Amino acid sequence: MPSRHDHEHTHDHEQDERQDAAEAAELEREARRLIALSRIRQYGDPALRMKAREVEDFDDDLLRLVERMTTLMHEAQGVGLAATQVGVLRRLFVYVDEDEDRVLLNPAIVTSSMETAAEDEGCLSLRGVLVPVERHIKVTLEGLDERGAAVRTEIEGPTARVVQHELDHLDGVLIIDRTDDESRRGALATLRPQPVLGAAAPR
Ligand SMILES: [Zn+2]
Repeated sequence: MPSRHDHEHTHDHEQDERQDAAEAAELEREARRLIALSRIRQYGDPALRMKAREVEDFDDDLLRLVERMTTLMHEAQGVGLAATQVGVLRRLFVYVDEDEDRVLLNPAIVTSSMETAAEDEGCLSLRGVLVPVERHIKVTLEGLDERGAAVRTEIEGPTARVVQHELDHLDGVLIIDRTDDESRRGALATLRPQPVLGAAAPR
């Protein structure tokens, strides 16, 4: 018959196992995030500075692209991802709105609020950078879904910021272009390639 001590011991052991499992899951999540980021174009990549063209073909390739971008966005723990960030120069982006995955093709802002707000913004293509960017607090977008059907959506709050950020990507515009000079200088210092020990310092 187990003593009280044995019982406690068993309990502690289970708790340790649960903790180990939680830590392992967290490590895997972090590993997935880093792999996803390695598949997303990073600052310095010319694709991030190019203007994307309209989507014209609504085929299986497009559906696969949307699926791949959605998975990548989640694995990178982001809330939006534009096609230029995966090197595809077409006008589409995926984003999360109220826990729902969304996609918008050939998007355009048709109305935007007079009211704007400046808040810190990050980007999956600019690792380690967080700079204040002024955005409209409410926007109405028109575009197409992945089947080519017309979509009109009114977005406000944090998601309004996300869609304005992603739309910028399709025109080769990044958050460092939209922030103040001091924040831009700080961001560029963060983004400067770090010299690798034993290798020639990159210029
Ligand atoms: Zn971005």
